[in-house]
Amino acid sequence: MRIVMKFGGTSVADIERIELAADKVKREIEEYNCQVVVVVSAMSGVTNQLVKHCGDVSSLYDLREYDTVVSSGEQITAGLMAIALQKRGVVARSWLGWQVPIHCDEFHGKARILSIEKKDLDERLNTGEVAVVAGFQGISEKRRISTLGRGGSDTSAVAMAAALDADRCDIYTDVDGVYASDPRIVKKAKKLVEVSYEEMLEMASQGAKVLQTRSVEMAMKTNMPIQVLSSFKDNIGSEKPGTIVRREEDIVEKEVVNGITHSKNEAKITLRDVPDVPGLAAKVFGPLADAGINVDMIIQNVSPDGKVTDMTFTVTRPESEKAMSLVRSDEDLRDIIVSSNNNVAKLSVVGIGMKSHAGVAQKMFQTLADKGINIQVISTSEIKISVLIDEEYTELALRSLHTAYGLDEEA
Ligand code: ASP
Ligand code: MG
Repeated sequence: MRIVMKFGGTSVADIERIELAADKVKREIEEYNCQVVVVVSAMSGVTNQLVKHCGDVSSLYDLREYDTVVSSGEQITAGLMAIALQKRGVVARSWLGWQVPIHCDEFHGKARILSIEKKDLDERLNTGEVAVVAGFQGISEKRRISTLGRGGSDTSAVAMAAALDADRCDIYTDVDGVYASDPRIVKKAKKLVEVSYEEMLEMASQGAKVLQTRSVEMAMKTNMPIQVLSSFKDNIGSEKPGTIVRREEDIVEKEVVNGITHSKNEAKITLRDVPDVPGLAAKVFGPLADAGINVDMIIQNVSPDGKVTDMTFTVTRPESEKAMSLVRSDEDLRDIIVSSNNNVAKLSVVGIGMKSHAGVAQKMFQTLADKGINIQVISTSEIKISVLIDEEYTELALRSLHTAYGLDEEA
């Protein structure tokens, strides 16, 4: 058995936490006979501080130098973890991105991994040595240090797991798994045993921020099972205490609805009496796309008289002002009445079982109706149904849907 054990910032926050993480590594080796690659984040708060340092020197910093600075947090934890393991009699060696090497593209600050040379690590793992790899970093084609974007050590871990043919990638963090809803709002939300990559991606983009999205995409592409688990509990990965993210085919119980997510970062923009002519949507959304503004839900009414119609769409709140002025800046749209509403929230129910079950949407609509909650916009995909509602009712709606779909923790 070969596994990757990734420890996030709170799991290596201080020396005591690093020692506890090292204990877990030792147990995987001794109790479960695993070959282990450890991937570490910087101590929590450190990367933020380093990012701030760059900005304090110059707001227009060079991204290559930014990478030099912010990658340093992981260098510290990689070395400390190796020392902690050695102290426990575990043969261990730290590896920075350039030493592995982990080859990246030239997009400094948010680089992508192109390939990983695995020969050296492979040989050492086979002798029982533990490789402690600094997460978040690699080396560019021009041999400069690069970083993978915030939260990127998840992606480092999955990439190492895939390159080294690991059986599993355990992501140790400060929560004990992926929950059906945000447990801070829905107290009795249950922890999921398994979720598919697709569900996890839908849930991540909806605001369940447990894993960097790129890491899930990479796991999906390479078919690498990920386990999300807590480093604050005694269990270790081989005991399977967390939530496993894997491909749909390997999931036995395909839940119709596995998760409900919400976002209060939406704004609804409505255009009234827009001419019902070909090319209008392209005119409205073209400039938004050019400006990099992501449009999410869209509805356009049929026009009763064949002349004008109404159109509504959503964007993120910080982008709504800009979106409105872009629409208005088009000559033909100058006189259109444009209004926006920020007091909205988007709720989504997500589940792969939806593909083969009818009535999932109806249950959502009925549950909201029973609470007197009005639905403003609806959009669907194969495994997701989203509605836009008044922000005020977010918590009520979340809890009611939770109960309706049987997602409460059994008492
Ligand atoms: N230390 C980096 C960050 O805070 C990478 C990571 O922890 O995933 O974004
Ligand atoms: Mg993280």
